[in-house]
Formats: sequence, structure tokens, C-alpha cells
Amino acid sequence: MTQTLGTIGVIIGIAAYMPQIYHLWKDQCASGVSLTSWVMWFVGGIFVLVHAFSGEDFVFKLVAVAGLLNNSITAILVWMYRNQVCEIHPTKKKSD
Ligand SMILES: [Zn+2]
Repeated sequence: MTQTLGTIGVIIGIAAYMPQIYHLWKDQCASGVSLTSWVMWFVGGIFVLVHAFSGEDFVFKLVAVAGLLNNSITAILVWMYRNQVCEIHPTKKKSD
């Protein structure tokens, strides 16, 4: 029973990435999205993945793989579109 709930939680967690990934991909805009944060989540995800696969918990492995995959996709898209802004986001330029 708890494994089913955990799997549903993983599916919801995967779905939660989609609005961000969709905006990055479709509008090629990374306005306000921190590349540093996504890279840190990716690096942390590697450690979690190693730990998850040292045990027998299927849901923990699933969430580790899904998280790392989504973090890597998001980080790559943020890096690709780091200097691009879509029409719906403010076009305020950085002063640095
Ligand atoms: Zn945008």
C-alpha cells in the first residue's frame, strides 16, 4: 500500500517538473530560473541516487532516477536559454 502511494507521489513529482521544462523548451526562456540551484539539485541527486541503489526500496530508486533525470533536463535547458527571455517575462536587463 505505501509503495503504491510512494509511486503515485513520484508520478506527481515528475509531473511537477513539466510546467518549468515546457516553458524552457517551448519559449526558450530561462528568465528568473537559477542555473546554480538546478546544478546543485543535480549534484545532490547523484548522491541520493547512489544511496538509493545501495538499498532495496523500489520507490526510493524510482524517485532518485526520476529526480536526477528531470534535474539534468532542466539544468541543461536553463543553461541553453540562460540569456533568453520570452514575451511574457519582463525584459529588465541585468546591470552587471
Ligand atoms: Zn519566459
